[in-house]
Amino acid sequence: MSLLVVGSVALDSIETPAGKRDNALGGSASYFAIAGVRYAPVHLVAVVGEDFPQLDRAQLQDQGIDLDGLQTAPGTTFRWGGRYHENMNQRDTLFTELGVFEAFHPELPAHYRQIPVVLLANIHPNLQKEVLEQVRSPKLVALDTMNLWIDITRPALLDVLGGVDLFFLNDEEALQLTGLSNVLTAAKEILSYGPKIVVVKRGEHGALVRTAHGWFSLPAFPVEDLQDPTGAGDSFAGGMLGYLASKGGAYDDESIRTAVAHGTAVASFTVSRFGVDGLVDVDRSRIDARVRDVWDLTRFNVEE
Ligand code: AMP
Repeated sequence: MSLLVVGSVALDSIETPAGKRDNALGGSASYFAIAGVRYAPVHLVAVVGEDFPQLDRAQLQDQGIDLDGLQTAPGTTFRWGGRYHENMNQRDTLFTELGVFEAFHPELPAHYRQIPVVLLANIHPNLQKEVLEQVRSPKLVALDTMNLWIDITRPALLDVLGGVDLFFLNDEEALQLTGLSNVLTAAKEILSYGPKIVVVKRGEHGALVRTAHGWFSLPAFPVEDLQDPTGAGDSFAGGMLGYLASKGGAYDDESIRTAVAHGTAVASFTVSRFGVDGLVDVDRSRIDARVRDVWDLTRFNVEE
């Protein structure tokens, strides 16, 4: 079963305690697509400027990602700069230059409209909504967002959230969105906004999932030589939704548990190198081996 992603394709400038990189291929859609294509065909919708390097386009193409929905517009590619603190848990956004995203309106090629699993990756909620309006009865729609959109486009975000099945956000965003001070209460509250599954990403502390039936929680896989956390959330989403798509798109609680383990495994490869480098080199068998490592990390015996 195929995946459709709309989000940013970006040139990122990243500084972490482990190093520095300028104008590296990034963006929410790029990370998601490179992760998801390890599981299922991925069709990407985004825009880049005329300055977007041919090498970066080729890298996405070589991964087998369908770029028919990637528009090239006059102007500059979206650029984002971030600097991580010493512990890499926190980062400051240094700049966000929307460039061609200012005037972008997604137009889905005809063969994108029937795709059953959709990720509305981090991007302006109005653009997420425009994509949702062009797809025909998808089986699973997921959405990711960030503090910026909760701040400045809250009504539009709540509107699009009403039409999604699964919502990814981090713990601070969950508090910001609900105005509550407890992440658990916030995740439960967000279920009343529309999504049936709320996935709270907690960085090195892993992921916390709330559905109508209860909780599921998994720690992050311990990566000792952390290089660059950028894209961890997007590639987590790519592993999770890629796994669900590869199994026919069902999202019952048992499938969600296994999918979270896949997201956890994929994200651990992303953060172990700079930019998308850790992802492009990894194949499905290494991801599956890491899923077994995640299981081994968390298993224990319950005495009868
Ligand atoms: P993550 O580390 O999972 O939060 O994702 C980082 C990626 O999000 C980077 O590659 C950025 O290019 C991209 N990004 C940052 N800000 C925005 C934004 N306002 N809209 C869309 N993508 C963004």
